[in-house]
Amino acid sequence: MNYPFQISIVIPLYNEDESLPELVAWIRKVMAENSFTYEIILIDDGSSDKSWDVINQLSVGQSDILASRFNRNYGKSAGLSIGFKLAKGEVVITMDADLQDSPDEIPDLYKMITMEGYDMVSGWKKKRYDPLSKTIPTKLFNAVTRRFSGIQLNDFNCGLKAYKNKVIKAVELYGEMHRYIPVLAKWNGFVKIGEKVVEHRPRKYGVTKFGLERFLYGFLDLLSITFVTKFKKRPMHFFGAWGFSSFLLGFFITLWMVGEKFYKAKMNIPVRDVTDQPLFYIALVVLIVGVQMFLAGYLAELMNSDSHKKNDYLIASQIDKTL
Ligand code: UDP
Ligand code: MG
Repeated sequence: MNYPFQISIVIPLYNEDESLPELVAWIRKVMAENSFTYEIILIDDGSSDKSWDVINQLSVGQSDILASRFNRNYGKSAGLSIGFKLAKGEVVITMDADLQDSPDEIPDLYKMITMEGYDMVSGWKKKRYDPLSKTIPTKLFNAVTRRFSGIQLNDFNCGLKAYKNKVIKAVELYGEMHRYIPVLAKWNGFVKIGEKVVEHRPRKYGVTKFGLERFLYGFLDLLSITFVTKFKKRPMHFFGAWGFSSFLLGFFITLWMVGEKFYKAKMNIPVRDVTDQPLFYIALVVLIVGVQMFLAGYLAELMNSDSHKKNDYLIASQIDKTL
């Protein structure tokens, strides 16, 4: 596969007009020093400040900028996702627009992808310049994600990452999924995931765009991708199995209760009304839950049968000598 550029730099940004000129100048300097061919892809995520004007000024008389602007603020994942669609470089590097990530890391990241054969390399902000209220939850977040995903990265949420082009074309981002690109990549079979310690700088201009709610949403997203990655293609295996077990349990409890009633009646042993026994209500709940889960699995399976036709399996290579 031939790529028109060695590097695509994808930068999602939201209200970063102060940082942009410095950032773009710095990237251009690094690119020139290493004589890379490159494109800078700027996705303005519906900024309300002068970011778009600044981007326009920066692209006057230059051919290295490709920029899109959202009509409203959709979030960082949306920005990255559009950037990934546009990226034509052999290596795709994402970074934040706020100058917290240093463009000086680009040559090494590029080398790790092209020479050392990594599918993706994630930056690790080993020494951070963030307030404690952010670094402590971040540690927890990383530990949980490591455990769920089995990927041994220290810093999942670092904005500075490098990918082989085909990796970013394979991952589908939605919600706040940008935090889990390594997990999505691994799920698509890109298992050579590396890590590089990168310099982290304090935010120079503007303010952070994410508050503490990032950790709650991040965790919920982790649950959904874990679930989706495991059962997307076969929801019935999950819902069906649990639903059926639950139904069976209820069924046997009911059977037992009816049997007991008849037996005791026959033997003239005094017997409580079925409706007087807690077990009866447990059986009812378990039966209903079972049927519900089974139905949920069935519906998911129905919806899936359409997407199966779409066939989103990722094909690594192909031989076709029929032409
Ligand atoms: N960002 C974005 N859309 C948003 C929020 C943030 O494109 O809705 C961009 C932001 O401009 C920056 C990057 O995502 O380039 C990371 O955001 P920020 O620096 O605020 O996050 P933090 O460094 O605090 O994790
Ligand atoms: Mg930042």
